[in-house]
Amino acid sequence: GLQFPHPDRTRIITVANQKGGVGKTTSTVNLAAALAQGGLSVLVIDSDPQGNASTALGVDHRAGIPSVYDVLVNEEPLSYAITQCPDLENLLVVPATIDLSGAEIELVSLVSRETRLRRAVDEYVLEREQAGLPRLDYILVDCPPSLGLLTLNAFVTGREVLIPIQCEYYALEGLSQLLKTITMIQQHLNPELHVSTILLTMFDARTNLAQQVAQEVRDHFGEQTLETTIPRSVRISEAPSYGQSVVTYEPTSTGALAYRQAAYELAVRN
Ligand code: ADP
Ligand code: MG
Repeated sequence: GLQFPHPDRTRIITVANQKGGVGKTTSTVNLAAALAQGGLSVLVIDSDPQGNASTALGVDHRAGIPSVYDVLVNEEPLSYAITQCPDLENLLVVPATIDLSGAEIELVSLVSRETRLRRAVDEYVLEREQAGLPRLDYILVDCPPSLGLLTLNAFVTGREVLIPIQCEYYALEGLSQLLKTITMIQQHLNPELHVSTILLTMFDARTNLAQQVAQEVRDHFGEQTLETTIPRSVRISEAPSYGQSVVTYEPTSTGALAYRQAAYELAVRN
């Protein structure tokens, strides 16, 4: 397969859009799996209480197991919650359990509530370096569909934001709120944060509407928007029920090809 270039330093990418169902989780797991297939060392942090990314990567996420909840609320080190994706040896996962649904509230009264994930991630990167372990190439953080403390923690952790946009009528609604939040984080908590990548998802080339939305996104965010669009595909939507990404479940499907292409583009844009 295609070998992907290693970035100069660990790229930490937060996958966010406060809209639900736009392809955040699907894009997180499939880009991560494609990058790992391309020979890169990847960590996915599932920061959505739904735990969909954990499911899709075939990782246990029953209530009570070590998860991102323990990192955020109990200040456990990231390594405490890291587990291995069964399909890809160089893909690590920090799962989310249902415990995380209480974290938005629990975090409110805790000190340094916005920087907890960042600290754990920075410490883990250092810990690997000191242990002589290979550097992680990518860390992808999957966010819940809201702009609460979980997403805030992910924005403080990431250096880049990847926004999946579904090519439908209301696609751009809510985007200004998202961008405002990112600017606020940039000004107050994480000066490095920027929207590096926009990925058009569930694209149906046969409809004029999808074409129009895609064009509108490219007009506004020409530089950030990947050339590759992700088509609507049944294989993509059924892969999670097998606990797999589409790139491992059906590697020759159009969906898998699209995600591999998008991952390659992401990697070479670096
Ligand atoms: P989010 O994480 O933003 O809520 P998901 O990634 O969970 O969105 O996607 C929402 C739903 O759409 C899921 O059921 C998923 O399987 C499906 N889906 C996502 N991308 C595609 C696609 N390219 N083709 C078909 N179904 C898709
Ligand atoms: Mg999701």
